[in-house]
Amino acid sequence: MALDLTAEQGQVRHAVREFAENEIAPHVKEWDQNETFPAEIIPRLSELGLMGIIFPEKFGGGGLGYVEYATAIEELARVDASVALTVAAHTSLCTNHIFLVGTEAQREKHVPGLASGKKLGCWSLTEAEAGSDAGGTRTTAERSETGWVLNGIKTFTTNGSYADVCVAMAVTNPDLGHHGISAFIIEKGMPGFRPGHRESKLGMCASDTAEVIFEDCRLPPEGLLGEEGHGFIDSLKVLDGGRISIAALSVGIAQGAFEAALTYSQQRRQFGQQISEFQGIQWKLADMATEIEAARLLTYQAARLKDEGHSVTREASMAKLFASETAVRVTGESLQIHGGYGFLKDYPVEKFYRDARLCTIGEGTSEIQRMVIARSLLDSH
Ligand SMILES: Cc1cc2nc3c(=O)[nH]c(=O)nc-3n(C[C@H](O)[C@H](O)[C@H](O)COP(=O)(O)OP(=O)(O)OC[C@H]3O[C@@H](n4cnc5c(N)ncnc54)[C@H](O)[C@@H]3O)c2cc1C
Repeated sequence: MALDLTAEQGQVRHAVREFAENEIAPHVKEWDQNETFPAEIIPRLSELGLMGIIFPEKFGGGGLGYVEYATAIEELARVDASVALTVAAHTSLCTNHIFLVGTEAQREKHVPGLASGKKLGCWSLTEAEAGSDAGGTRTTAERSETGWVLNGIKTFTTNGSYADVCVAMAVTNPDLGHHGISAFIIEKGMPGFRPGHRESKLGMCASDTAEVIFEDCRLPPEGLLGEEGHGFIDSLKVLDGGRISIAALSVGIAQGAFEAALTYSQQRRQFGQQISEFQGIQWKLADMATEIEAARLLTYQAARLKDEGHSVTREASMAKLFASETAVRVTGESLQIHGGYGFLKDYPVEKFYRDARLCTIGEGTSEIQRMVIARSLLDSH
């Protein structure tokens, strides 16, 4: 691996790898097949400081940066992408939205519980009619004498069934388009707030994906997160960090699938020799390793720039686009190298192959990443 990590970053990688291999790997198959959300792993992730790496220590976080965060997500995804997705939605979407634009009181109220992992967070932007076009949000938030009243259904919310804290986008002024969307903080137990249908999926089966429903859900005035009308714009900023996590997650999936193929190609014999001795297989392995390294470099470059305080909209989209499409290609080639056995549930590669498909869709599809990148190229010319 060509990455030039500091000693501390190397320690994070080592610690998360050891944890994932010892404590997650033995359960991956069972959680996936039973579509079990592994709630019992959250306290262990918390003990290791993995539920709030990027937040200051005074807020219960790890006081580290996006490079360490990406390292942790990559190492978790190398073993189980569902666990990585749970951590990613909690950290870079929910908690980070509150940390980025919350008032001091909101930060103090919510971030310590979330960053320490005592509470689980989710982030709800998507709706049935508002996917790529998140500006089509229909959920409403109307002012009341005591604060706000939310009504609507959010779809595809990672951690939606289990979250203690939900950040959700809702329309506060239908006449203002994108500028009429605001963000809100909703807590488990508030009347009128409940999880809805839990999705059964192709991959990421141990990650919870659910509707969240608001029925006359009353929030106090301080339920509003950020300025009124800034919810959509703030979401785009939040997604810059979120896309770095999906890029890292993609690198981890690709790395796991590559290692499985490398091992298998040296065990499987056909025509009297290991299949790794065939040039056709060697070229696949060479291409896979090269693409993974390129994806990793783009991902960690975006993470480094973010840690240095730069705007990373283009870099995060490039990393997410390339890494997610790499994960799809590499997992496909790994399956091919496994032949018929790759098609069986007995081998880990079919799960990598299914999990990778989420990465070109979640937090903006590949088509949307290309739009973001092209817009930034054209705007800067
Ligand atoms: C497992 C999972 C977890 C998720 N977690 C969350 C979460 O925690 N929070 C959350 O808010 N959302 C979440 N999502 C939702 C995800 O972000 C959306 O699915 C995604 O943004 C795409 O929206 P859509 O599914 O409505 O597809 P659509 O927007 O309907 O897109 C359908 C197709 O049309 C293409 N398309 C759309 N517009 C254009 C265009 N202008 N030009 C070219 N092509 C276009 C798309 O690229 C896609 O190929 C999750 C989704 C999944 C599957």
